Amino acid sequence: MLNTQAVTYVACPTCQIKTPWSKENPDRPFCSARCKLIDLGEWANESYAIPQQTSEEDEIFSEDLVSNPNKSFL
Ligand SMILES: [Zn+2]
Repeated sequence: MLNTQAVTYVACPTCQIKTPWSKENPDRPFCSARCKLIDLGEWANESYAIPQQTSEEDEIFSEDLVSNPNKSFL
């Protein structure tokens, strides 16, 4: 039932090269594992920025948690 003429082509999100969407391409929709890693790396960089902000908020939050029990004691 394999019909090689019906292969769907998608543009690689990283380099926009048309790449076949098939089971033989484990990196789809990327054209190669390298493009896949580049895209994943960009995602990792973005998600790294969020924990940094959260840890700053965490410090303020934990300060609040420390000062609030003191206030309730006073
Ligand atoms: Zn690519």
